Amino acid sequence: MTEQQRVKHIPVRTCVVCRQKAGKRTLVRIVRTADGIQVDVTGKMNGRGAYLCDRESCWERVVQSDVLAQALRMQLTHEDRERLQLAKPKA
Ligand SMILES: [Zn+2]
Repeated sequence: MTEQQRVKHIPVRTCVVCRQKAGKRTLVRIVRTADGIQVDVTGKMNGRGAYLCDRESCWERVVQSDVLAQALRMQLTHEDRERLQLAKPKA
C-alpha cells in the first residue's frame, strides 16, 4: 500500500453525543459486553461499540442520559455509569 492510499483510508468515527467526526484514534470506543459497558482502550474488543470524543461534556452526557444506552441498545446499570465516570478524560 502506498502512503497516499493509507491517508485516504483513515477510519472516521462519530461521537455518539456531539456527532463530531474524528479519526478513530481521537475517539474512545465504548463496547457493550456480557459484563456491561467496557471502555475499549485497544480498539479490538468484540461487541457492539459506540464512540465518544474526549470532551468532558460528552462523557457527562452519557453518564447522565440514555444516549449511549440507545446507541448500544441496552440499559445502563449503575455500575456501567460509574465505569464511564471513572474513564472520563480529565480536562
Ligand atoms: Zn463528543
